[in-house]
Amino acid sequence: MTSIRSGHHKINFGGGPAALPREVFEQASQAVLEYEHSGLSILETSHRGKAFAAILDESRAIIKELCGLNEDHEVLWLHGGGRLQFCMIPMNFLGEGDTAGFVDSGHWAGQAAEYAMHYGGTNILSTSREDNYRHLPKWPKDVPGSLAYLHYTTNNTIYGTQYHDVPECNVPLIADMSSDIFSKRMAYNKCALFYAAAQKNIGPAGTTLVVIRRDMQERIVRTLPPMLSYKAQVASQSVLNTSPVFAIYTSLLMLRWMKEKGIDNIEQENRKKSELLYKELERNTMFAPVVDKAVDRSMMNACFRGMSDDVERSFVTLCEQHDITGIKGHRSVGGFRVSLYNAVTVEQVQLLVDLMREFEHNKK
Ligand code: PMP
Repeated sequence: MTSIRSGHHKINFGGGPAALPREVFEQASQAVLEYEHSGLSILETSHRGKAFAAILDESRAIIKELCGLNEDHEVLWLHGGGRLQFCMIPMNFLGEGDTAGFVDSGHWAGQAAEYAMHYGGTNILSTSREDNYRHLPKWPKDVPGSLAYLHYTTNNTIYGTQYHDVPECNVPLIADMSSDIFSKRMAYNKCALFYAAAQKNIGPAGTTLVVIRRDMQERIVRTLPPMLSYKAQVASQSVLNTSPVFAIYTSLLMLRWMKEKGIDNIEQENRKKSELLYKELERNTMFAPVVDKAVDRSMMNACFRGMSDDVERSFVTLCEQHDITGIKGHRSVGGFRVSLYNAVTVEQVQLLVDLMREFEHNKK
């Protein structure tokens, strides 16, 4: 069997930092040498200059287009990854006497609630923790109107479950979309705020996309140092301090790639990739999917187990021999996790499926 490679690049099915398209790597490399005939590397390009202002403008426009948003929403590029949003959200919107609601669908959803406990009350409205998050918790029916907001995670990176659209909500809805933003059409405009650490479907680690509905600025309950205040970040349009210019520029390259491809085509491919893999997991006697309810399964992260420790060890070795990397499950759960982010191709997934078949054949 031959592996599908460009140059010496391995096939990366990792949970993040994730695969990016070859052309994005090439364009980013070129910009490191010299950014658009400026005589400077992108690494030397000022966050206060015209070139970066144009990068920010274009990125905001593409994000709004891909998400179907108008001027009611502000687009921010911040630092600190997904976890800093776990802090900033309650710092800004959860007063000491207030309570926020959480849908506890996995580790990251639970972490968002734990971080919020430092600032106010938390109400876990629904959880699937007792079943090790092997399915999605039911969407809560009676959300108390007194909640400051409801936080949920659209795609559970570690457990491989995913909500298929943004639900209606009677309180401001806040969504962690770190691992499935731009993977399909979603009703982004139902969110008062959504965010995504860049290192999966957007670009490299080092920046976090935050989209906030303008009126949310009126709900800020604390006076905060500017770096932690959404109001100050909106006012400075993401250049409050030295921005991660390279991370944002590389994200723009990925945004251009997604715009050119179109969300519908991206969604179609993601569906194809995940169906290919789940179908094989249902059929192959060496492996079994972790998420039993097919409707809850994620198009982005497919989690599965080998039938024995030996199967798991030897399949990892076989994958390594074929330059396939990043398939081990998160260290907290074990097994396998194959991430099918936007830059992963159908051909790469087919290659993995072929390898699973060959593995089964040789084990029998
Ligand atoms: N939310 C989700 C859904 C994630 O998958 C992750 C990390 N993989 C995080 C939050 C945390 O992101 P970070 O490491 O950037 O803090």
